[in-house]
Amino acid sequence: MIITKTREEIELMRESALIVSKTLGMLASEVKPGVTTLHLDKLAEEFIRDHGAVPGFLGLYDFPNTLCMSPNAQVVHGIPNHTPLKEGDIISIDCGAIKNDFYGDHAYTFAVGEIAPEIERLLTITKESLYLGIAQLKTGNRVGDVGYAIQQFTEAAGYGVVRELVGHGLGKKMHEDPEMPNYGRRGKGKKLIEGMVVAIEPMTNMGTHRIKQLRDGWTILTADGKPSAHFEHDVAIIDGKPEILSTFKYIYQALGIESDEEDIYRQELLSI
Ligand code: MG
Ligand code: MG
Repeated sequence: MIITKTREEIELMRESALIVSKTLGMLASEVKPGVTTLHLDKLAEEFIRDHGAVPGFLGLYDFPNTLCMSPNAQVVHGIPNHTPLKEGDIISIDCGAIKNDFYGDHAYTFAVGEIAPEIERLLTITKESLYLGIAQLKTGNRVGDVGYAIQQFTEAAGYGVVRELVGHGLGKKMHEDPEMPNYGRRGKGKKLIEGMVVAIEPMTNMGTHRIKQLRDGWTILTADGKPSAHFEHDVAIIDGKPEILSTFKYIYQALGIESDEEDIYRQELLSI
């Protein structure tokens, strides 16, 4: 059952989402060669608690840390460790926080130093697919419309769309109905309704869409060892249209990147 949220609840969820956004913004200046993912995890936990929130992943389904840190061929759910990041790596950082009983949950894939152009393209396409999926989050549409938009674009670019892991409803629980796959068929699946809040999170592999899991019971990685990217936003449907509650702007500020992608999305994609 989809649990819709009132306007007041959506404002509380925006607060939770923004704590995660600011945490990722703080981490953006710390991601560099030589830094361990465990160090970044500690920074994130402190930052979240300093902002009056609680890490959302720590202890959830017994996950041991604050962040899911998934470098290179790891897709998602990587566990922070003592291995230093190195020049040319990419790292998906997925972060959750709970404030006012509501979860925020979003993710960004960072470049560590200079990365190869083909990996840069993987990141660009994955992020673009996220916005294309979000643009479909309108009343009258269905879950399959979102997945279809992401899948078509991603596969046309020559990449694999992970099937086994999906986006989801978000609220007082991290995973609520409905599941939001990054693949699908137009006009199929549950109806999108006013007041629903979802996490949209394409996971895109440079090669095969197939994945495997490490024996740690958590880490998901690509079956062929090629890189994978992951971006996630929290989005509410308000007045029949998508409203992104999270933002990458703190990341761009930290990295000195001029980006108006969120404004472009508002103006152009919504008019589709
Ligand atoms: Mg997440
Ligand atoms: Mg999620």
